[in-house]
Amino acid sequence: MNFSSGRVGQIPPYLFAEINKKKAEMINSGIDIIDLGIGDPDLPTPKHIVKKLMEETQDPGNLKYPSFVGCVEFKQAVADFYFREYGVHLDPDTEVLALIGSKEGIAHIVPTLIDPGDYVLIPDPSYPVYRMATLLANGQYHNMPLKKENNYQPDFDEIPKEVLECSKLMFLNYPGNPTAATVDLPFFKESIQFAQKHNIPIAHDSAYNMVTFDAYKAPSILQVEGAKEIAVEFGSLSKTYSMTGFRIGYVAGNREIIKALSILKSNTDTGQFTPIQKAAAYALNSDQSCVTQYNQVYKKRMTALLEGLKSIGVEVEPPKGSFFIWAPVPKGYTSAEFVTSVLEQTGVIITPGNAFGPSGEGYFRVSLSVPTERLYEAVNRIKQKLKSVVG
Ligand SMILES: *Cc1c(COP(=O)(O)O)cnc(C)c1O
Repeated sequence: MNFSSGRVGQIPPYLFAEINKKKAEMINSGIDIIDLGIGDPDLPTPKHIVKKLMEETQDPGNLKYPSFVGCVEFKQAVADFYFREYGVHLDPDTEVLALIGSKEGIAHIVPTLIDPGDYVLIPDPSYPVYRMATLLANGQYHNMPLKKENNYQPDFDEIPKEVLECSKLMFLNYPGNPTAATVDLPFFKESIQFAQKHNIPIAHDSAYNMVTFDAYKAPSILQVEGAKEIAVEFGSLSKTYSMTGFRIGYVAGNREIIKALSILKSNTDTGQFTPIQKAAAYALNSDQSCVTQYNQVYKKRMTALLEGLKSIGVEVEPPKGSFFIWAPVPKGYTSAEFVTSVLEQTGVIITPGNAFGPSGEGYFRVSLSVPTERLYEAVNRIKQKLKSVVG
């Protein structure tokens, strides 16, 4: 018996569900697996944030239905964050909306803006949710290839005219998952100009906005003059503060889009638990040294991993943001073959690039979100056991 709709039936298994199954099988057969596949920070949520959450749960008023649009403290904290970090003014009432994790908002913005048959412009490779949400909304997606020679930026001139005419939304994501690519403000200016010319709203996913290294600071698309007329930006507390389990994020920018999304959401969910929103507001408002400290940890791991890869002849430039490394597979391998070979030879899980879209073929992604000792162990195994494979 098949009870799923055509929409659900066409969705391939969730990428990480497949990988997790394989991992469980190998662990059961006694293999010591190091999972560099999934992007869930191992570093703990900073204590002051957890403490605030516990305090807020003691107030009975916080245990009722939350406000549909998010609590005032959280939305104000997001607006303050934008002013402090980017000099961008946001009206917390109309230009900020709380989300149950940014994934929820990314999935819901698609049916908010498109009708069946409409196109969504999607970076390729990218976070799978953009594509799957489009399929679930009976839309079509157009892959915009991200090529290394273009610094993993889409070439807007390559989008066919017929596609542009039916496009109702474009996703962008920098610092990027899986590419770890970063951009500077001129790229966002160009994107906004393009969006305005063709009247296509942009949803910029800034999940890694604060996970950056050395002197690099990731810009916000909302810094571009006129951006609020056509763009929204998704943000998340998940990666910055190791708060993935809290499920708290936001969308900021164009008020019409935010209003439309909030209509869909108010008929779907009833907002995030108020203590979580208040703890998230506290995270944004308090001392940010935990963020600097965590980024230094990622940077150190990245340096070790890049050195390990170099020893097997895989060279990549150090990323300026995100906790991923995106690298070409050695000559003679497909993504799937290389990933399987690494798993069999070393017990290290990495993600095949084509899992993020067809242009990811020939690449693999490594996540740096495992404890540093385990990462070093993975690097040792790569150095010792992989040389013979690729050499
Ligand atoms: C992790 C991630 C998200 C989702 O984050 P949540 O706020 O935890 O839902 C969104 N986009 C990208 C690119 C991510 O890597």
